[in-house]
Amino acid sequence: MKIIMLGAPGAGKGTQAKLIAEKYNIPHISTGDIFRANIKEGTELGKKAKTYMDKGELVPDELVVDLVVDRVAKDDAKNGYVLDGFPRTIPQAEALDAALAKLGDKVDYAIDVDVPDENIINRMSGRRACVACGGTYHIVHIPTKVEGICDACGGELILRDDDKPETVKKRLDVYHEQTQPLIDYYTEKEILKTVDGTVDMMDVFASIVNILS
Ligand code: ADP
Ligand code: AMP
Repeated sequence: MKIIMLGAPGAGKGTQAKLIAEKYNIPHISTGDIFRANIKEGTELGKKAKTYMDKGELVPDELVVDLVVDRVAKDDAKNGYVLDGFPRTIPQAEALDAALAKLGDKVDYAIDVDVPDENIINRMSGRRACVACGGTYHIVHIPTKVEGICDACGGELILRDDDKPETVKKRLDVYHEQTQPLIDYYTEKEILKTVDGTVDMMDVFASIVNILS
């Protein structure tokens, strides 16, 4: 099962992708997590990506596409994967389709987690991310057992630099301009499924499971 998560920044793509990955035993591939890991390790890729991420802009397609194409070709992705945060532009979607077509393969589902812009700022300002494992929580909606500490690994939780309101606004503009056209792209391919992302996280997940099974 090859799944793409679509939706605005903060719509809950990562939250749902983790649940899908656990239930169906497939890898969760988040380009944002890959970039953040590279930033933490101080790699060249991380240094380049950070300059765009800090401004709320997209990292250029040429720095993202090969990375994902290589990742989905790994052994653990043979039975499927859930892509979170990729593709984010039409050229990225076309590059993914072309790479999969070469292997006689294709994306099965593009799931759009639909959340209006009004809810996004609140989601992002309350988001807390684990510096160690990338786990994501919300201070009000999805709190940890102990404040500031990741339930999964005990790591420290932080507010991401790019979750500050001024950057979030820019990211939303970028989403509408560059990523939202993917909704039409996957509608035309007849694999788009839309779920209401404003309801409780487990209700969103139930809708997704319903689509996948
Ligand atoms: P994305 O990966 O789309 O950027 P996240 O999965 O990180 O979004 O979710 C953004 C924020 O919203 C996080 O703080 C997360 O805990 C919270 N969140 C996710 N799903 C829901 C939901 N259904 N209801 C309320 N808050 C949610
Ligand atoms: P995310 O964790 O998915 O919210 O991504 C955080 C940031 O990483 C984005 O705002 C972009 O700057 C960058 N990024 C992640 N995925 C991509 C992608 N597919 N294309 C371009 N930039 C990306």
